[in-house]
Amino acid sequence: MIVDVELEYDGPVKDYCGTCTACMDACPTDAIPQPYVVDGSKCISYFTIELKEEIPAEVKGKFENWIFGCDICQDVCPWNSFSKPHSEPLFTPNSQLENFSKEDWEEITEEVFQKVFKHSAVKRTKYEGLKRNIMFVKR
Ligand code: SF4
Ligand code: SF4
Repeated sequence: MIVDVELEYDGPVKDYCGTCTACMDACPTDAIPQPYVVDGSKCISYFTIELKEEIPAEVKGKFENWIFGCDICQDVCPWNSFSKPHSEPLFTPNSQLENFSKEDWEEITEEVFQKVFKHSAVKRTKYEGLKRNIMFVKR
């Protein structure tokens, strides 16, 4: 974002990690090889959202059923236990999705995809991308 207004600057973020290594230990694809370093090319979010080609075979079996992004490092971070649930209606998922069974995901059609993700960022993968991700985690 480029703006021509004078902004109030804040300072650098403090180091609150200490000796914690929870995110590094929990990442299933070893995408956090050392503190403060994320190797985006190994991240499940990259593979399932940004990558347009086939997902490399060497990461097969490591996705822990994540099919669009991954939040494992966020889930295990102790600081996130202080987070509060949002009350923004626009972030509420389509209620139809909450009742999806494993079979519903595996058999999702383009018509259903367009309907349930009409207002969702999941559209970024397009139907073919999400289908690729679903088939990749299918055992
Ligand atoms: S989002 Fe998932 S794959 Fe990516 S760095 Fe975090 S735990 Fe690893
Ligand atoms: S889990 Fe959170 S507190 Fe722990 S190392 Fe990772 S970012 Fe830092």
